[in-house]
Amino acid sequence: MSINPTARAWVEIDLDALRANYESIRRAVGPGTALIPMVKADAYGLGCDRVVRALEPLQPWGYGVATAEEGIRIRELGVSRPILVFSPLLPEAIEAAARARLTACISDLGELGHLAAVAERTPGGLDFHVEIDTGMGRAGFRWDAVGGWAPAVVARLSDALRWTGVYTHFYDADGPSLAPSFEQWERFERTIERLPVPRDSLLVHAARSAAVFRDRTFDADAVRPGIYLYGGHPAPELGDDVVPPPRPVVALRARLLLVRDVPAGATVGYGATHVADAPERWGTIGIGYGDGLRRCLGNRGHAIVRGVKVPLIGRISMDLSVVDLTAVPTARVGDVVTLIGDDGDATISLEDVAALADTISYEILTGLAPRLPRVELPHGDDR
Ligand SMILES: *Cc1c(COP(=O)(O)O)cnc(C)c1O
Repeated sequence: MSINPTARAWVEIDLDALRANYESIRRAVGPGTALIPMVKADAYGLGCDRVVRALEPLQPWGYGVATAEEGIRIRELGVSRPILVFSPLLPEAIEAAARARLTACISDLGELGHLAAVAERTPGGLDFHVEIDTGMGRAGFRWDAVGGWAPAVVARLSDALRWTGVYTHFYDADGPSLAPSFEQWERFERTIERLPVPRDSLLVHAARSAAVFRDRTFDADAVRPGIYLYGGHPAPELGDDVVPPPRPVVALRARLLLVRDVPAGATVGYGATHVADAPERWGTIGIGYGDGLRRCLGNRGHAIVRGVKVPLIGRISMDLSVVDLTAVPTARVGDVVTLIGDDGDATISLEDVAALADTISYEILTGLAPRLPRVELPHGDDR
């Protein structure tokens, strides 16, 4: 726990656990299915560079990002694998994406037209994948209109512009019933059958983390895991028999900056929403909503101090929060306080925090602010 002696708060990252989660996915899908780790949004807040460096030796097929900038950043790390941009690209972004040899994911003929023009003047040409909208509704060519768009896509193909993949995205792979996912899968398959290019010329993919562990039907040629790699349970409501829990990758820690004893009647935080009803000991910690500690956790959430779970009292401020230390008389200034993660026998999981904040682990992770230093656990540390 003395990993970071100077910071007031930090995000701890266990890259061994990240790699173990990757290997769990590899075992689930078997050796014949390609893995496309999703490293968008700075690898869900963990830091894209370190995640890519950690995964490169495992030789994923490629990487998935959301923006051209994210993809260019990975190219600049020296990665030569395919990098797929899983959002529609504005015409202005296509040129830069092409220079970095990113693979565009196409949802629309106008977008393809821009890509074709750029491909003609790109040495070596460009690959693209086509998204099929089977119900997600935010991007993709509609599955039930394939007779209209597919011939128009093929008409654009050339030596410089190659159609190399097709995919869809599940909207309910984490839901109690897989029926919606099977319906989407069926629409996807029916669409692929009707494409005027050979099935074997395309990399076919659909599964995100939740789907990877629920039915082998969805494996296809490649899977696109994100949250599972980063230690988030992709279907927390369904429990650990449906999806084996990932190893935690992220811990959120802060330090006790002040410890003081207060009399009954003392108030804490904006709005004085906590009042000591007896003498209490309070600890001020150096983390707040400006760091990504959700404000709604005030008077609801917990922290761990010296292996003891203690309540967050009063409103969370931007930079500071307060815990009730009455149950931990040995607590001292400088002690490490855990907001997410383990300390001794106590645990606060990412899912606990997400549930209390009425959101999902994805939003908690991507909400961890840049001002929190990211600290990597030493390799081989299995704390
Ligand atoms: C983010 C994303 C994924 C990964 O989803 P997880 O639930 O994090 O595994 C897969 N595919 C696409 C298109 C995405 O945008």
